[in-house]
Amino acid sequence: MSNPAVTPADLQQAIRTVPDFPKAGIQFKDITPVLGDARLFAGCIDLLTANIRPGSVDAVVGIDARGFIFAAAAAVKLQTAFVPVRKKGKLPYQTYEQVYDLEYGTNTIAIHVDALHPGSRVVLIDDLLATGGTAAAAAALLQKLRAQILEITFLIELSFLKGREKLPGFPVRSLVTY
Ligand code: AMP
Repeated sequence: MSNPAVTPADLQQAIRTVPDFPKAGIQFKDITPVLGDARLFAGCIDLLTANIRPGSVDAVVGIDARGFIFAAAAAVKLQTAFVPVRKKGKLPYQTYEQVYDLEYGTNTIAIHVDALHPGSRVVLIDDLLATGGTAAAAAALLQKLRAQILEITFLIELSFLKGREKLPGFPVRSLVTY
């Protein structure tokens, strides 16, 4: 069911900023109040999928872990497949891995080698775009599988961290910007 009543401003109002979590200086964007309100959650999925026609996409790809919540719901709404990009060591079959830089150290994410056929049309969804390292690494995995990325979509974008600059050439859209 589409729920045109929910606006990005409604989502922004519900998102809770928790200072100094998980460590000092981080303003953590807590999306659980959106999930905990059936109308907002459904409206959020409507907004995340607004540009995508059912039938025009072969899979929605979600990033571990909060991205799964939104991407899986979006896949059901679009009547298409869901593909997880997981943290290293969690996927049981053969994987491609991609390393990316964190503030301190590195992280590795992975996708099953047979998760998508070459040429698959996909939408990549995560909860939040910060520095862009995670999404850029996920996009690199999708390129390894030769998928076609229609859009990279976020509920939240921390625009001051300029994450978009790590996603050149991709259509990037976010619902709520700080
Ligand atoms: P980045 O790779 O820097 O774009 O970080 C994006 C990932 O880290 C997303 O999957 C978010 O879930 C998480 N993240 C980064 N910063 C925040 C924040 N301020 N609040 C909540 N989640 C965050």
